[in-house]
Order: sequence, then C-alpha cells, then structure tokens
Amino acid sequence: MTSFKYKDVSSTAFQLRCTACGDLHNILAKHKTCSCGKVLFVDYDLEKAKETLDKQSLQSRNRFNIWRMAEIMPVYQEKYRFSLGEGWTPLVKLNNIGEKLQLNELYLKDEGFNPTGSFKSRGLCAAVSRAVELGINEFVIPTAGNAGAALAAYAARTKSNAHIFMPEDTPPFIITEIKALGADAHLVKGLITDAGKIAKEQGIENNWFDVSTLKEPYRAEGKKTMGLELAEQFNWSLPDAIIYPTGGGTGIVGMWKAFDELEELGLIDDKRPKMISVQSSTCAPIVRAFEEGKDYAEFWENAETIAAGLRVPVAIADYLILNSLRKSNGSAIAIDDLTMKIVMSQLAKEEGIMQSAEGAAAVAALEPLLENGSIQEDEKIVVFGTGSGLTTPEAW
Ligand SMILES: *Cc1c(COP(=O)(O)O)cnc(C)c1O
Ligand SMILES: [Zn+2]
Repeated sequence: MTSFKYKDVSSTAFQLRCTACGDLHNILAKHKTCSCGKVLFVDYDLEKAKETLDKQSLQSRNRFNIWRMAEIMPVYQEKYRFSLGEGWTPLVKLNNIGEKLQLNELYLKDEGFNPTGSFKSRGLCAAVSRAVELGINEFVIPTAGNAGAALAAYAARTKSNAHIFMPEDTPPFIITEIKALGADAHLVKGLITDAGKIAKEQGIENNWFDVSTLKEPYRAEGKKTMGLELAEQFNWSLPDAIIYPTGGGTGIVGMWKAFDELEELGLIDDKRPKMISVQSSTCAPIVRAFEEGKDYAEFWENAETIAAGLRVPVAIADYLILNSLRKSNGSAIAIDDLTMKIVMSQLAKEEGIMQSAEGAAAVAALEPLLENGSIQEDEKIVVFGTGSGLTTPEAW
C-alpha cells in the first residue's frame, strides 16, 4: 500500500466561528474563546475539500494518525502534522456482555490503544500541532491526569514546553508519566477547576498558551476524528446510539461536528446516532441539566469520583453537549462508582478488556438505558472506552 502524501493536500480551514454569538474570527490569529466567552469552532471549505477527499482517495492514506482526512483538519503544512500514531482504534464487538443484555450489535471503541492510554492524545495532538504551526511553544493545562499526560507527550514530540497543573490526588502513576515525559508538573489542592484557576493565572503571567478543554478551538478537531473513524469503520454508516462518558464533553461536541461535515462531503446521510452522555452519580451536572430541561448546566458542588475524567463540575461547552443530546433524541444518565468498579472487573474477566473507570461507566449504563427505553435490543450501539484500565490504577 502506498502511503498518502500529505504535502499534496492542504487544510481547507478558513475561519473560526463562535458557537454562541456567531461572530467570525481570523483563522491565523492565536484565538482562544470568543470575546463573548463561548467556544469557537473551525469552519472548512467543504466544497473544496470534496475535490480531493472521497472514499476512493482515502483507500491509499495512512490510517494510524489523526491526519487521515487532512482537508478537514486544522493544520496547513505537512511538517506540522505531528503524530505518535494516535487514532484508528479498534471497534471491538462485546460478544459476552452483549449476549447477556441481548444486544446483538454492541461495540466498544477502545481508545485505550492511543499514545498515553487515552483519547486525550487525539485532542492534544491536534491542538499542539496547530499551535506549533502558529509559532507557539509554551503550553499550560489543568488536568485530572490524562490530558496532562497527552500534552506532555506531544510537547516532547514538538520540542515545546508543557506546564501542567493537576489535583494532588491525581494517580501517582500518571504524575510519574507526566514527569517522565519531561513536563513541568505542579500539584494543586482541590479539583480540576481549582487547577484551572491557577493554570489560567500562571498562563497569563508567563505568556503560556492555555490548551484547556474547548478554551481553544483545536482540541475538538482532534476529538472529531473519533466520529470520522466511526463512520469509516462502519462503511459510511453510523450506529444507532453512541454512549459516551462525559466530562468536558469535547468528544461529544467534536463527533457531532464531524457528522455534519461528513454529510456535507456526501460521505454519510442525514441519519444521526442518539448521543448519550454518561456521568458519575457524584458529579453529574450535564445529566441534571438534561433532566431539568435546561440549556446550561450549573456547577456541581463537592464533585468526587474514581473516574477522574468525569470529575468535571462545570463544562464550558455545556450548551453544545446538551444541544447534541437533545437534537439526536439521546439522553443522559449517571452511574455510581461501585457499579463502575463492578463493570471494570466484568469487562476484564468476561471480555479480556482492561478499561478505565470512565469507559466502564459507559458500559454500565447499558442496562439502565435498556430499562428506561433509551436504547433497544436490536440497535447497533457503540460505547466509548475512553481510556486504558492502566489510567485508573486505583480503581481496580
Ligand atoms: C477526559 C476523559 C473523559 C471525558 O472526556 P470529555 O471528552 O472531555 O468529555 C472520559 N474518559 C477519560 C478516560 C478521560 O480521560
Ligand atoms: Zn461569541
């Protein structure tokens, strides 16, 4: 198989657009959020992208990185499309758990295969690559663990510096990993939101570029590749439901954007999966807002869960997450920590898959979702296993 020459293709990104007020921003500026405080998205010239991006041309392109559909990714020059082999993760059929639940088409997208063991590598790969293309080489991030590890890896790869702020109870293994990758690591009292405040202050003071979830437009573009891949792995159709363990919501928001772009490119039709958010019952701001019919989620007090990726008491993209859940006829559900642990063990012992607590939460949601009618036995269902079991060592 000949490998794809990225230099023959450029990004068709041409502007940044605010997802709330609609204001347009220059794609060449070092933008973060909109002046209104909300999330910016990248707009692509999809008519132009169509000229080179089709089912045929994809046949000859490398699968094992997120730049496969370079036309609808945000980096222009080939030399800035950095990679550690992220993406194209396996879609594993859960035969044994599926049989028990009478779900005949149940799949786990195992994101644990990504560099640093979680899907955070997709987002940080895109964000760091684009930032380096814009001349940035000092990064700051608040993290519950996985995003910090991913940033540290891509900072090393691009010879940049990563300044990482995380709660002091971040799993020791992840702290070791972040330091081993050469990052400047800081432990903070409190939650990721407390780490976020310090990261923001320090970032402004030292002129470090903040790559917090959805506070710059490019991490969502990396996470979007999960949606692009799903469509291609299912031969250009989408499943009936996507079950996604939701913290900051970058994945849900990114995939939802991916589906619209794929439709405009003529690669899929207008059918969308039901998007279903899973959170921890001890930190469930999106579930609460969904149930109360609100457009925004309120801060969740005293957030605490073994699933560190779900310990996000407030999400800047709450309105985008809630919108995709509602527009897709989806839902939201909370799972308690004990059930997560039981399902982690079940996945390991019955399917041979060591998943993170977050991924296990999504699998654990299947039974109550069947009971409340959110999903049906004959549907094709994809659960996101967002991280390797090694990313939540203390949960075993
Ligand atoms: C960050 C993280 C999540 C939450 O992801 P979002 O896209 O921000 O909602 C889920 N699982 C794992 C393992 C994570 O690291
Ligand atoms: Zn705006």
